[in-house]
Amino acid sequence: MSQDALVFYSRVDNAQAWQAALAAELPDLDVRIDPAVGDPADIRYALAWAPPAGFFARFPNLELVINLGAGVDALMKRDDLVPVRFARLNDPGMEAMMASYVVFAVTRYARDIHIFERAKRRGEWEYVHPRPLFEIKVGVLGLGELGAAAAKALANMGFSVTGWSRSPKDIPGVTARTGREGLERLLGESEIVVCLVPLTPQTHHLLGERELALMPPGAKLVNVSRGALVDEAALVEALRSGQLAEATLDVFETEPLPEGHPLWALDNVLITPHVASITVPALAARDVAESIRRVRRGLAPLHEVDPRRGY
Ligand code: NDP
Repeated sequence: MSQDALVFYSRVDNAQAWQAALAAELPDLDVRIDPAVGDPADIRYALAWAPPAGFFARFPNLELVINLGAGVDALMKRDDLVPVRFARLNDPGMEAMMASYVVFAVTRYARDIHIFERAKRRGEWEYVHPRPLFEIKVGVLGLGELGAAAAKALANMGFSVTGWSRSPKDIPGVTARTGREGLERLLGESEIVVCLVPLTPQTHHLLGERELALMPPGAKLVNVSRGALVDEAALVEALRSGQLAEATLDVFETEPLPEGHPLWALDNVLITPHVASITVPALAARDVAESIRRVRRGLAPLHEVDPRRGY
């Protein structure tokens, strides 16, 4: 038995698929699937999604925790974290899937498909003259690994794209903004806003009544990051009043979205069940293996998370 083992914990991911993918990338890695962890002192790495309270403290030699997903908000708000390095998953497959969802949602509005869907249900031929894509201003909140991939895909298609992040960015074809003023400018000029910032104490209810009111009347919102970035009560109100004409929502403050929630009844909302992007073990295992190789050499893992900033 090695003393350089990884513990895998998830009740939703396929442990065997991960074990096979990791074996292909890093054959010398001893992968142990919880609860069959053997001697806890052997464990140096954890690849985990939503483990029970006290999980990390069980392993005295733990060095690295890799969150089994891109969003680390649930991990970062735990009160049982131990002082080790934290990383998260990201891979080209996840970026491509997220970009495909965002391109679909934005294009559906830009090409008036939502109007034709309703017209078809009424049995009516409703002609709406198409608009060139460069006339359509799209704002992307968050220009990280997923936000930048989505913003680039939209820019490549010909949309006018503005993005917003904490630090300045230089992305070809994308106007980059930062700070509160940058956020307000982006909201004021974007016909379609895509939300791809992580949920942190700073971004909780980033879009409330005031921010939604800054958007041009009849604007559209696409939220693919985390539900609590948007004040859901204010969102429902904006969708009822017409301040927001449409929303495509993949994430919600409570998931699954509870039966009877007002969003279910709104005809101008497209709801998908948190499926915008997923991790494919065969692709993501490459980065997990590389992170472990790096940590073995005393280097930082890929996609490292900074617990102080929360993402
Ligand atoms: P990253 O950490 O790579 O990027 C986050 C981006 O948000 C960065 O550009 C960052 O700025 C910006 N940001 C963070 N905090 C602030 C702030 N306070 N003000 C302004 N900008 C801020 O994350 P990813 O792109 O990989 O993922 C984004 C989110 O997508 C995840 O956190 C997760 O919640 C969600 N997700 C949803 C999925 C789904 O299926 N619906 C699947 C996967 C992820 P800077 O660049 O300056 O650091």
